[in-house]
Amino acid sequence: MKPSGDAISPESIARNLQRIRANIGAAAVKRGRTPESVALIAVTKYSGAAEMRTLMDLGVTHVGESRVQDAERKFKELYTAHHAAKDKHDPAAINWHLIGHLQTNKADKAVRIFHAMHSIDSVRVAEAVNDEVNHLANGPQRALLQQLLLEVNVSRDPKKFGLEPTFEEISSLLKLCSEFENLTVVGLMTMAPHGDKPEVTSRPVFKRLKELFQEANARKSYRQPLTELSMGMTQDYAIAIEEGATMVRIGSALFE
Ligand SMILES: *Cc1c(COP(=O)(O)O)cnc(C)c1O
Repeated sequence: MKPSGDAISPESIARNLQRIRANIGAAAVKRGRTPESVALIAVTKYSGAAEMRTLMDLGVTHVGESRVQDAERKFKELYTAHHAAKDKHDPAAINWHLIGHLQTNKADKAVRIFHAMHSIDSVRVAEAVNDEVNHLANGPQRALLQQLLLEVNVSRDPKKFGLEPTFEEISSLLKLCSEFENLTVVGLMTMAPHGDKPEVTSRPVFKRLKELFQEANARKSYRQPLTELSMGMTQDYAIAIEEGATMVRIGSALFE
């Protein structure tokens, strides 16, 4: 993890964002896709509410957090301290993505903060969030959570979370989630191993996730086609886009 605390100027963030957007566009165009076909999720787990506000001012509409408690703190800071400044800082204008593992005892908080969860990897976690969303559905404060992605441990790294990278595993969880009335599974997520040769270590992982995604769609494992592939981080987002990523999760490159 990067040490936090070193302040980074809004100008540096703006410069980094501009460079990342250009790289995203170039990788998309290289494969005949439009730059808009890739959503940038700005991973803010190493930074605070001030940096998030800068990102929002620069037009970022998706933020990613790994831990529910950190997200909750920043969420409150942004939306209560800046209640007056509606528009861009309105919770409805920004999509919060949970990209880290969810402990089921935090599901009640998580469904009130996140629009999407990328880390669904068991029946237990899926049912916990579905129960919370249903529980809130008739009350005054609706859940913000709408979208789920299933996390797949393509590289079978014992230190990582995620489903086994087999069609059977993915398909059985998709079948269960097909019954959820208030939540939609939109796609699959993975993390490639850390390494300094992403051509060698990341590309095959992304290719495999895409194959599993295509197979799930071809065999209609879910009630509607999956559309999203969440893959690629600072080390390998250009490769991920070449392999079909529709969402890239980028942290370090924004704040370096
Ligand atoms: C931290 C994190 C990222 C961002 O990683 P960077 O290398 O900082 O871009 C992306 N996805 C997940 C799941 C993460 O935990």
